[in-house]
This record gives sequence, structure tokens and C-alpha cells, in this order.
Amino acid sequence: MSSEPAAVGVVSVGDELMAGAHPDLNAPYLASRMAEFGRRVERVIVVGDDEEHIASAVDALAARCGLIFVSGGLGPTLDDVTRHGVARAVQRPLEECPAAIEEIEGWFTRAGRVMLENNRRQALMPVGATRVPNGFGTAPGFRCEHPQGAVILVLPGPPRELQGVFDAEVEPWLAEHRPDELHRARASAAFVDLPESTFAEAAGAWLERGANPLVGVTVKDGILTTRAVATAATPGQAAAMARERVDSLRALFPERYLAERVDDLGAFVGGELQRLGVSFSLAESCTGGLVAASLTGAPGVSEVFARSFVTYANEAKRSELGVPSKVLEEHGAVSEACARAMALGALERSGAEVAVSVTGIAGPGGGTDEKPVGLVWFGIASRDPGGGAPLIEAEERRWPPLGRARVRRWAANRALAHLLRLARAR
Ligand code: ATP
Repeated sequence: MSSEPAAVGVVSVGDELMAGAHPDLNAPYLASRMAEFGRRVERVIVVGDDEEHIASAVDALAARCGLIFVSGGLGPTLDDVTRHGVARAVQRPLEECPAAIEEIEGWFTRAGRVMLENNRRQALMPVGATRVPNGFGTAPGFRCEHPQGAVILVLPGPPRELQGVFDAEVEPWLAEHRPDELHRARASAAFVDLPESTFAEAAGAWLERGANPLVGVTVKDGILTTRAVATAATPGQAAAMARERVDSLRALFPERYLAERVDDLGAFVGGELQRLGVSFSLAESCTGGLVAASLTGAPGVSEVFARSFVTYANEAKRSELGVPSKVLEEHGAVSEACARAMALGALERSGAEVAVSVTGIAGPGGGTDEKPVGLVWFGIASRDPGGGAPLIEAEERRWPPLGRARVRRWAANRALAHLLRLARAR
């Protein structure tokens, strides 16, 4: 099998990965990031902290790939042997890298600690290797070349560190070291409250595997992110193509668009409310404060976060929010009338400009034919800028009964989407 310059291999190192203590998160992450560079991970090997196994995994990948990532096992202890395994594969001795010693010492100094002797081990790399700084942990990575020509990138194991180093160091390097003469550019867009199937139907053929730009979708924590990677003869052409495709996708769902990239929905919505200067209040029953907690992920949100009510018991809905007893008796706590009354109470008792309420049945028990598990009502209230009566809407959602935690999370995300819409409409 001859080596394929664009092909990529990954070695994930760690006894805990082999023991099933936790899943390998690094290889999937690297695979998805490589797709953005038009490169394909064609083989992943998971090995324990064993010098010989690491060396033979690297050798096996070097026979077929132009680029090999090795993650994990860069720690200071004797069972961290990745540097030794890679040195064996590239047939070079290890030597201490002075810049790496400085980097590790700096890390300890900032933490107010003294570097221990065993941390010197983390500055070892094969002769001729180039250090890859790690601004996210104590273990620097390195880059070296296999005798068969493959470039080997050795990165720290903790996913947060690996991802940080990828963005800061590896991405610029990859952009400079292309496997062909073509240029690639990417653009992205994040949406809220957009099921993947709805998106896929609207995007149609744009999602086909051979398309250029190549469009991908991921859904995580209530956020759908689409990325377009365009390949063209010049960087400008590639950038324009990627941007144009993402703009077209964005135009399909203008109201659900958040921003180019969003990692945390609550923090994003909190930040938007603050940026737009719209004060808000919440009345939560089945989400028990999840919406409020998510919004406080935005630093400085206290400027606009007027007040939040967690009213789980009927009595709390009455006394804290002024929900009329008649509403609770005639319609129940999970009802349109109660959601409206809760939102109105939150608006009036906080002085905020907008308020959202949530009341529902998260399960597993408590459902009936008429009000099944997964039924959630939202109240959406906003003050009339003209001084008239508040405007109140209600929305009913019926989610599949796929567990209490998921129903609560979906409801919280939907409440965040309502808040964002209210704020943007003002
Ligand atoms: P450091 O010295 O900064 O800890 P390291 O390179 O030595 O870095 P490891 O000792 O291999 O990293 O791993 C540290 C922790 O990182 C592991 O216990 C595990 O929680 C996590 N980790 C390592 N590799 C992976 C992986 N492939 N997927 C998910 N988590 C991982």
C-alpha cells in the first residue's frame, strides 16, 4: 500500500481508552476538523500507554498516510511514553527541548508553583522535532517526520487541550501545508430550534458528499451548526464560495439564525439580551431554573436579568406570580391559561420588558392521555412600548417522552429561543 499524501491517520493513546473508562473523543474531533481541510482520516488506532504499541501504530499509519496525529500520553509520569514510542518510530533519540522547558516553567510560575524534576520529561522530543506550544496545559506537543515521509503531529490528550492547540497551532500550519495546489476556505452558521431533518430537507443537494462547497451539519446542545468548505484555485475564490453557500443556507431560516458560531446557547442569548439592552424575567416550573442558569453563562447579564421565579408548586405560582386559583383549578398548572398567567406575573412583578414562562410535564410519571409526558406550554409576554396592556402569546410543544432530562433541556432551549426572538423584535 503506497502512501497517500492527503490521507490522515490518528493514534489515540491511553490505557483508560483501552479499558473503556471513557470513549476516545480526540479521533472524532480530528476527523471532523480534517474534513474542513478537504482531508480524510482513513484509519484510527487506539493503543494503551505502551512504547512498542505506539511505535508500531505510527509505523503502520506512515505506510499509508501523509499526516499522522498522535494524542495523549505526554504527561510527566513514567507511564506516559508517547514521546518514547514516537521517537522509536522515527528512529531518533530523545533530547530535551530548551524552549519546552521554558514553556513548562512558565506554566508553573504563573500557577505560583515550582516546576518538579519529573516535569522535565515533558520537554523531551525526538532530535529534529519542532515544538508545538500548548497554551492550555503543561504538556507541549511536537511535530516530526517519519522516515517514510509522513508528518507526525503529537498533541496533548485532554480534549480541551487538544482542541485549543489545534485551533492555535495546527490549523495555521495545515493552511500552509496543503496536500495539493488548491486552496480551501470555510464558513459557518449556527441556528437555534432547527431540527437536523428540517435543515437537511431544505438544504437538499447541497448536502451531497461530492459537492463543492462541501456542507456538513452538527447538532449539539440545542444548536445546529452548518459548515461549508469550498475548494478553489485561489484563497479569495474559496472564501467567496464558502461564504455564498452559508449565506444561502442562512437565508432559508433567517429567524432561527444565531451567529457564525455559537458554543453555548444560554450564554449567547444572555449576551444578545445584554447587547440589545432588553431586560427580562423568567417564570419556570418544569425547567426548575435551567433557563435562568443557562443565561447566567453570559458575563455581565445582571444588567438586564431583572428577576427569575422558580414556581414548582401551585401555591408558589399563586403567591409569587399571582396565577389565579381559578386558572389552576379549571385548567391545571400545565395549560395555556397558566403559562400566560405565569408570564404576565413575571413581567409585572419584575418590571422587566419581556418575560417567558415554562410549564410542562417532564416525566417519567404524571402524564395523561390529554396531557402526555413531553407536553410543555410557554407563555411569552412583552411590555407594550406604547404603554398599553402587555402583549402575551402562548405556545404548546409536544416532545417525545425520551426522558426527563431531555424534555427539560428541550424546553429550556425553546424558552431561550423565545427570549431571543422577543429581544430582537423590540
Ligand atoms: P497532560 O499531561 O496535560 O494531562 P497528556 O497528553 O499526558 O496530557 P493523558 O495523560 O493521555 O494526557 O490524558 C489525560 C486525560 O485526558 C485522560 O485521563 C482523559 O481524561 C483525557 N483524554 C486523553 N486522551 C483522550 C481521548 N482520546 N479522548 C478523550 N479523553 C482523553
